[in-house]
Amino acid sequence: MNFGLTEEQQMVKDQVTKFAETQIKPIAAELDKTHRHPEEICRKLGEMGIMGVAVPTEYGGAGMDTVTYVLCMIAISKACASTGVIVSVNNSLYGFPVNTYGTEEQKKKFLPPVSGGKVEGCYALTEAGAGSDAGALACRAELKGNKYVVNGVKRFITNGNVASYCVLAATEDPAKGYKGVLNLVVDLKNTKGFSIGKIEEKMGILASGTAELVFEDAEVPVENLLGKPGQGFRQMLSGLDAGRIGIGSQACGIGKAALEDALNYAKERVQFGKPIVSFQAIQFKLADMATELEAAELLLLRAAWMEDHHLDYEKESAMAKMYASDVAMKAAIEGVQIFGGYGYCKEYPAERHMRDAKICQIYEGTNEIQRVVIARKLLSLR
Ligand SMILES: Cc1cc2nc3c(=O)[nH]c(=O)nc-3n(C[C@H](O)[C@H](O)[C@H](O)COP(=O)(O)OP(=O)(O)OC[C@H]3O[C@@H](n4cnc5c(N)ncnc54)[C@H](O)[C@@H]3O)c2cc1C
Repeated sequence: MNFGLTEEQQMVKDQVTKFAETQIKPIAAELDKTHRHPEEICRKLGEMGIMGVAVPTEYGGAGMDTVTYVLCMIAISKACASTGVIVSVNNSLYGFPVNTYGTEEQKKKFLPPVSGGKVEGCYALTEAGAGSDAGALACRAELKGNKYVVNGVKRFITNGNVASYCVLAATEDPAKGYKGVLNLVVDLKNTKGFSIGKIEEKMGILASGTAELVFEDAEVPVENLLGKPGQGFRQMLSGLDAGRIGIGSQACGIGKAALEDALNYAKERVQFGKPIVSFQAIQFKLADMATELEAAELLLLRAAWMEDHHLDYEKESAMAKMYASDVAMKAAIEGVQIFGGYGYCKEYPAERHMRDAKICQIYEGTNEIQRVVIARKLLSLR
């Protein structure tokens, strides 16, 4: 067993950490306040290869591994959780299914703009009636000649306000259940019948847009279908396994930011004549936060390593996402507590970390659903 990083992994981690600390962290509070999509940061991360870390270079990505992706996601999300989820969606939710299930032609056409970081991608699964029950899709894609005619509304789509391309999960026929699910790549800027609906007002990750995508007789060429009809549900599940590593890493980064800020504050804040960090009550909180976040990081790196080695990592990615987001939430709450009244005010980033951490327990499958996935595996039900 080797816990060390390769030279390349260490180099990319150092580069991305430096970029995140110097270019992203200083504007994170402004992004949170203005809800502005960090366009310039996304383009720069694209130039660094970070919008398609594990996508092969011939399709515009960086051709690196999932372990490197975890390291990048933690560093970026520690600086700004909103930027973290934008990066995660481009890599995992858009890049992974197109790279894994696309034909050579589809990969050449649909990967370079997003994985090369010129524009944003998104993944549209959730609907008003299909959240945790992802198989209950109502958005319909009917084959008419050489086109799918799409009708339906997708909810809560990250990057939906800005994305140029989308992997859209729809059903050929709701009566077919899971077997009717298919995934289509949609060129959102050039598809008649597509429009952006409501933009959500949220608790956290405020610089990451969350939008409704509306399809009204939208025509999508049949050659944009990923794989074959009937394979869509499996593709969706494997895409979520990959995505959970990204969201777990986002959570881990947020937790690490909460820990670092709380540690620094506790060294400076003086009460009863000494820095509050000298009180054992504060030290124990910091010790628990650090231990749990390091355990989360190890779970994430293990799941990533398993993905890189083509092993079944469904249980491991669910465990990593669930644990990382639970301990990040706990760390963010403890972070606010260590800041006392100042933690509740916007002058310090502690309250932002708490608002940002919460979503990681909800999206990419709620943590209740992660426990369902883990228990199913333990009971060998699937
Ligand atoms: C900011 C944000 C960004 C998002 N980005 C995307 C995106 O890019 N693409 C996309 O497709 N979706 C996205 N989503 C949707 C997200 O993945 C869903 O909100 C999430 O999967 C939960 O679905 P739901 O909201 O319908 O909750 P529900 O499924 O209605 O769940 C409500 C509660 O019931 C629990 N529950 C449900 N079923 C079970 C069960 N079988 N056992 C135990 N408990 C259960 C849940 O855990 C939860 O606590 C996003 C959501 C948000 C808020």
